[in-house]
Amino acid sequence: MSEPINSSTRLNFHGTYTCPVCRHGEISAIPLMEALACNFCRHIFTANIEQQTLKMADSQLPLTWRWNGRTWTGGYREENELGWGYWIAGIAFVLLPTSIVGLGAYLFPPLPGSSLSWLPIFWTGLTFLCHSACLGWLVLEYYQFPLSLYIRALGERLFARFN
Ligand SMILES: [Zn+2]
Repeated sequence: MSEPINSSTRLNFHGTYTCPVCRHGEISAIPLMEALACNFCRHIFTANIEQQTLKMADSQLPLTWRWNGRTWTGGYREENELGWGYWIAGIAFVLLPTSIVGLGAYLFPPLPGSSLSWLPIFWTGLTFLCHSACLGWLVLEYYQFPLSLYIRALGERLFARFN
């Protein structure tokens, strides 16, 4: 999938390449335009042949990839790169509330045999899941990842198998 279909390993407007966003569809040039489009996630890109870079054209803060002859590298924003601080904050956003809730459950355990004794553990798990989902959603939004298209394609594939 990551191999270009044409024999040339340089990025050009005649080749077909794996989409750097969804890693599922293929991007190729739109006729009569200096732009490329993905046949799966429908994102539109502009290419810089001299620098061998591809820039997402339909996003507010454009992402850029570099073609290294075989695959895409980068996927960085030109001026607003995700630093380590954001990842540490993201991990803290998941782990801190979970450990506070878990510590509460550990320090003040429910009375043994009470009907709601499962609640603290359930609540700890729920806290972890909710905060992870928030973080995951933010990451998907940041990278413009087409999750809904993936789920739809997966559903269609499953549906086709059972027919
Ligand atoms: Zn795509």
